Amino acid sequence: MAKRIVIALGGNALGKNLEEQMTAVKTTANAICDLIEDGHEVVIAHGNGPQVGMIQNAFAAYHKANEKSDIMPLSMCVAMSQGYIGYDLQNLIGEELDRRGIKKHCATVLTQVAVDPEDPAFMHPTKPIGAFMTEAEAKKLQAEKGIDVMEDAGRGWRQVVASPKPTEIVEIETVRALMNSNHAVIAAGGGGIPVIWEDKYHLKGVPAVIDKDFASECMAEQLDADMLIILTAVEKVAINYNKPDQKWLSDLTPDEARKYANEGQFAPGSMLPKVQAAVKFAESKPGRTALITLLEKARDGIDGKTGTAVHL
Ligand code: ADP
Ligand code: MG
Repeated sequence: MAKRIVIALGGNALGKNLEEQMTAVKTTANAICDLIEDGHEVVIAHGNGPQVGMIQNAFAAYHKANEKSDIMPLSMCVAMSQGYIGYDLQNLIGEELDRRGIKKHCATVLTQVAVDPEDPAFMHPTKPIGAFMTEAEAKKLQAEKGIDVMEDAGRGWRQVVASPKPTEIVEIETVRALMNSNHAVIAAGGGGIPVIWEDKYHLKGVPAVIDKDFASECMAEQLDADMLIILTAVEKVAINYNKPDQKWLSDLTPDEARKYANEGQFAPGSMLPKVQAAVKFAESKPGRTALITLLEKARDGIDGKTGTAVHL
């Protein structure tokens, strides 16, 4: 049965550098076209960790050499990462659709994702980003530009930003319109360009990182999707992960998943946000299923043959 699916692509779907990206995106495009060929409507979100890091480092190096140059705001770095990842994905998906004779198009939407300025996460920024600095450089940046900094695990000083929850996909009607007019859509890349509503009309970029798993979940709800598929580096979610008594999970209710999460079974920053996003989506409306699996297992996962599914 044809489904409306929001796919969240993890880091391994894109690779960590341009060379890896070239091969990884080809495989990714193929797997996505398999789902489109099966008749599903797909909207694709993706991570951007290594890519946005590369952009920030490039601008940091330029700024170091040219003191008068701008410090590129994080929101703009995310926008740039959406651009060049989307460029590659939409080209390869478009090419593969043509090759298979599927009359569909693929487009990328530069996507802003709104967060609540009162989100408690802003009180405790936790995510180190961008280039490493000396303590003196970091303190100078903090004093002169008001940028939060922290020491990152003995490796040096970095900018630190908050990771607030997404409240709204700003361009959702654009995504919907493209989806409804026969497009595979790439949106909310890197969790979206983080923005807050300054007043009724004006959006302002903020230095924050929105988790791509939560942004994908938010988009899946707003599009009334049937499935949220989070594609990552493991075929299934496990309890006692990497321990002798490890057990792979196939089917979970939101309550079971929440119980395991509360036991600390899922690593914060990697598997935990995926499980939390899956629980939120599954609980948002009866009939909605979230699936966590490998890219190359997406098709089997939709058929209920593998992966970890969360549903009521
Ligand atoms: P992505 O780029 O897809 O978001 P992450 O590295 O953030 O990937 O998260 C996926 C990783 O989470 C897996 O590769 C696995 O090593 C790790 N992980 C942590 N806890 C678990 C668990 N309980 N079950 C399965 N994988 C887990
Ligand atoms: Mg991740």
